[in-house]
Amino acid sequence: MKNFIPLLSGAFTALADLLLPRRCLVCGRVLGRWEDHLCIYCREDFPFAHFSSRVHNPMADSLNAMLEALSPEGFHGPYIYATALFLYHSENRFGNVSRVLKYGGNIRAGRYFGAALGREIASSGHLADVDLVVPVPLHPLRRLRRGYNQAEVIAGTVARETGAGLCVRALRRRRRTSTQTRLGAAERVGNVSGAFAPSGYFKRLIMNDFPYSHILVVDDVSTTGATLAACVKALSSILPSGVRVSVATLGCVYR
Ligand SMILES: [Zn+2]
Repeated sequence: MKNFIPLLSGAFTALADLLLPRRCLVCGRVLGRWEDHLCIYCREDFPFAHFSSRVHNPMADSLNAMLEALSPEGFHGPYIYATALFLYHSENRFGNVSRVLKYGGNIRAGRYFGAALGREIASSGHLADVDLVVPVPLHPLRRLRRGYNQAEVIAGTVARETGAGLCVRALRRRRRTSTQTRLGAAERVGNVSGAFAPSGYFKRLIMNDFPYSHILVVDDVSTTGATLAACVKALSSILPSGVRVSVATLGCVYR
């Protein structure tokens, strides 16, 4: 019977593909049974960022600059590590890989690409020791309307791939920020500054013998780094010294 299971699952995929063809997230081409989410051509062109092998990369540099901007007195923590699975331009078709999770409810795709990000982190020289993953929270009203938090989907998969713990309630959104899509870099900093705070639950966890040494804040996309910087700042304000905070996203927008 065991030998029949892959055959049956292949037959179901073939039948499902016939009834409702799966399409490439990037170019829309109908996918073959052997293809997952991307066609072979878009897979070949996939713009991997390769940031997980470099401590200093454009995403990390811009995030650390953003932290300075958010802290008039200067940010005194260590240099923050940052990585993303792929790079894309705002007009670029690869942005759809993260958009289908955020706006299209394609949680399967979120887990698929989240797992690829998790595997990169697990084999990174400076990120492999991450032991707690924290998603960027959505405002409760927005989460209710969407039915899920896309950052949580990715964070859960990254935690599984790296063997780290997952804490979805570490941060809370203090206020609802207006959508950032049309804001410039400086406006985004103002928009999210102070929007996040450590939750009461996380504060209690810290007071009771905190066992973690490297926290990874996870989001779907980094555009200017303003949201991630605000989350890092909120966590750093209460973490015991010696606990490092890093960040990871699926996509990173370049301009
Ligand atoms: Zn394609």
